[in-house]
Amino acid sequence: MTRILHRSSRSAPPVAVSAQGPWITQADGRRLLDACGGAAVSCLGHGHPRVVEAIRRQVGQLDYVHSGSFSNEAAEELAEVLVGHEPGGLTGAYFVSSGSEAMEAALKLARQFFLEHGQPQRQRFIARRQSYHGNTLGALAAGGNALRREPYAPLLADAFSHVSPAYAYRNRRDGESEADYTTRLAAELEAEFQRLGPDTVAAFIAEPVVGATLGCAPAPAGYFRAVREVCDRHGALLILDEVMCGMGRTGTLHAWEQEGIAPDIQTVAKGLGGGFQPIGGLLIAGRILDAIRDGSGSFKHGHTYGAHPIACAAALEVQRVIQEEALLVQVQSMGERLRQGLEARLGQHPHVGDIRGRGLFQAVELVADRDSKACFGPALQVNLRIRDAALKAGMLCYPGTGTADGLHGDHVLLAPPYIASPAEIDLIVESLATAVEAVTASLPREVRA
Ligand code: PMP
Repeated sequence: MTRILHRSSRSAPPVAVSAQGPWITQADGRRLLDACGGAAVSCLGHGHPRVVEAIRRQVGQLDYVHSGSFSNEAAEELAEVLVGHEPGGLTGAYFVSSGSEAMEAALKLARQFFLEHGQPQRQRFIARRQSYHGNTLGALAAGGNALRREPYAPLLADAFSHVSPAYAYRNRRDGESEADYTTRLAAELEAEFQRLGPDTVAAFIAEPVVGATLGCAPAPAGYFRAVREVCDRHGALLILDEVMCGMGRTGTLHAWEQEGIAPDIQTVAKGLGGGFQPIGGLLIAGRILDAIRDGSGSFKHGHTYGAHPIACAAALEVQRVIQEEALLVQVQSMGERLRQGLEARLGQHPHVGDIRGRGLFQAVELVADRDSKACFGPALQVNLRIRDAALKAGMLCYPGTGTADGLHGDHVLLAPPYIASPAEIDLIVESLATAVEAVTASLPREVRA
């Protein structure tokens, strides 16, 4: 009997005992193909020998120093690798232990920036509905996923409001061009600034390619340029949450590189440490660092394990492997193979409404009816059934939380490691297609429109 408080108290999850590359071995000896890297975490697969060795070296050299008293070489080098070339004007880094902590720190950094700037009234944040930014109360308040929020209400409700997500598959109107859809979304954001009072808004928060809640949904062309303009017009910051889609997953190190803009604050986690160590971080625009250096002189926020040497050493080695083995090119080509495989195998399936994503971050959205895009509805939990069917057949995929708020269609997300072989990518496609076919065929006739 388990003594751990698991997510579901009805059924404890299987116990994993070891893992190598994209393969996980359970206590009962079964091997599973990890097609989602946990939740887009294991970018180099499991047990990468270079990262394992880097961790060993670091433990033997310097295991821990309190981040309030010391910096450490691993953290300094990691910051140099990430922002030494000042991508998009991001010149500073701040390391924490998770994505939620990174989001929490981003919210506080944005507020402190305006405090130092003599604009203490800028305390509000605008985020998007059907989003997820983490599980701590501030990050949860930023998120727009009703079912995750409600059990823990009241959240920091006054500080956060939400606008529509960029979700073309469902929200772009019939006959509306991509450009018109983008204009409409930017106008909605502008109206929200006006409603709140533009000089009360600290930042707009968005995920460049929406992972868990919408299933690898990229924004329409020009969307991020348009929202960047709205933020600039009103002197607000742009916070981009790349916890899931960042660190190479979409084929560029940062997903925003494909949007022609850069954020003021970027949050990263998951693929930063590749799952070898818990680590998250902020990448920060020079003008924010300057305001703090010229102002009070310190970011009034910190954690016991901030910039942990072992976590930073692991993340540094992950970055070196990505660079030295040219893995971003691999993400692009294997991502293309994955996408083409899904299109070929599931593109015409009567219950697959959309296949979308970027790089090795791809999802399928399931519908009761392709023409009307009608959902199966939350009660059937089609995404969980597909996850379970795939698991039975030996593959781990991520069911997403699309139906968690009861609003939208089920989706299943794939995020294989950057080192996955062509044969493993093909096996992932085949396993998912088989699971989709089996589950949809087993549904009651009346929901299979
Ligand atoms: N932001 C996004 C976009 C995420 O997907 C997640 C985790 N799924 C988080 C933040 C929170 O990260 P963590 O679970 O490491 O706290």
